[in-house]
Amino acid sequence: MTPPVRLADGLRFGCTRCGNCCRQPGFVWLTVDEMASIASHLKLSVEAFQARFDVQWDADAQSWRIDAVDGEGCPLLDGNSCTVHPVKPAQCRTFPFWPELLDDRDAWQAAKEFCPGMDAPNARLFTGNEVRKIRRKAGVA
Ligand code: SF4
Ligand code: SF4
Repeated sequence: MTPPVRLADGLRFGCTRCGNCCRQPGFVWLTVDEMASIASHLKLSVEAFQARFDVQWDADAQSWRIDAVDGEGCPLLDGNSCTVHPVKPAQCRTFPFWPELLDDRDAWQAAKEFCPGMDAPNARLFTGNEVRKIRRKAGVA
């Protein structure tokens, strides 16, 4: 693991809406409240949402999750757009300001391979405080 990303000078980030992050293999983690909001946004019951998107309880993580490890992408993605954008989970709202990226410069650099918005020269500059505030607001400080 490499040292943390330097926050003192801020970080530039601007989402181009390419959808690449949503196509990375992995899990989309959901709280009960997030599931309810997403189900409501899709005009589904929570049970129907869970069944349609195969939402599973992960006992180890003590969290609900959508399995997207097969590399096919998140099933809530349509083209390059998130179908639940206004209510997307904290994990998605806080990308790329994730601890595993901020705490490890190599991981941050690796994520830049698929995310053109990270460190983009003309993108908005977020101060360290703004980055921390985004995380806090999403409840993942
Ligand atoms: S990969 Fe980066 S630029 Fe593309 S949609 Fe995700 S956050 Fe935005
Ligand atoms: S919920 Fe939306 S933003 Fe999050 S991974 Fe799925 S498609 Fe992407």
